[in-house]
Amino acid sequence: RLIAPDVVSPQEDALERALRPKVLDEYIGQEKARAQLEIFINAARGRGEALDHVLLFGPPGLGKTTLAHIIAKEMGVNMRQTSGPVLERAGDLAALLTNLEPNDVLFIDEIHRLSPVVEEILYPAMEDYRLDIMIGEGPAARSVRLDLPPFTLVGATTRAGMLTNPLRDRFGIVSRLEFYTSDELGRIVQRSAGLLDVEMVDTGALEIAKRSRGTPRIANRLLRRVRDYAQVKADGKVSANIADAALKMLDVDKLGFDVMDRKLLLAVLEKFGGGPVGLDNLAAAIGEERDTIEDVLEPYLIQQGFLMRTPRGRVATSQSYQHFGLPVPGAIAS
Ligand code: ADP
Repeated sequence: RLIAPDVVSPQEDALERALRPKVLDEYIGQEKARAQLEIFINAARGRGEALDHVLLFGPPGLGKTTLAHIIAKEMGVNMRQTSGPVLERAGDLAALLTNLEPNDVLFIDEIHRLSPVVEEILYPAMEDYRLDIMIGEGPAARSVRLDLPPFTLVGATTRAGMLTNPLRDRFGIVSRLEFYTSDELGRIVQRSAGLLDVEMVDTGALEIAKRSRGTPRIANRLLRRVRDYAQVKADGKVSANIADAALKMLDVDKLGFDVMDRKLLLAVLEKFGGGPVGLDNLAAAIGEERDTIEDVLEPYLIQQGFLMRTPRGRVATSQSYQHFGLPVPGAIAS
């Protein structure tokens, strides 16, 4: 999927690293999260202490990993990176924690997917910089306590609600990342175009921005495709017309919806009479995982006012009917 918010290839991974803003000042948008972090980082750095643990949540591709790198850079410390599903045993986490230097950042992506045993040893580590691990088995087993250097855990998750309460409570700073406005994404596209040496007209950047589902990762991906198109079909310069033609060819519509978005909305509209429809039925109807619907497809459609989440299930809004040129039922229109 062109607009899948996850990283899709090693090439894209390399590109992302190249385009990643390095310091807070280069990080565009997310004013609330940025303002908050700026104060806490400056205060912690001034005192020479580790920054409080930070939980970042929001849909994929909005800049959580980028912020974790920025936090480490602004604090002047190293960052170690891992993810919830990778840490299978308590020892995996213990090895990482005992290798940290004072005030380092440990970034755990998909932190909601930590196994319970790993999560258990994370609690005292976060709270008292202490590690209690069991060595040996059976009657010979004993608990060993290790002191850790002060460190900052930066956890990222797509939904804060998926974290257990005791884990969530141990984060001093909780930041929710929002979808970006077209204006902010336009600035991100311009910045990336500059780094990639692409000649870009402002209206061209805005055209890409408007069709990026509020997500920088998608904006950068579309930029790459539009660049290819401009190179082959024009003189390399990206105007609004070139961007529009390239994105049409890629089947990204005016609102940035792709095939799966349209499939989901059309299923709600046509197969389920506009809803309400439960998540499982919807997943079966479009052949998509529940989690993908909840974490990736739905949030943007809801934020844009095309879909509503109600206690009885998902419901299409009048905007949805209009987008597909369908008559809006009287009950919704009123
Ligand atoms: P997440 O970890 O939330 O999935 P990433 O931090 O990997 O998202 O961000 C994806 C890409 O989007 C990054 O490589 C970066 O180039 C770009 N990006 C994200 N946030 C911003 C931002 N605020 N300003 C500029 N570029 C950004």
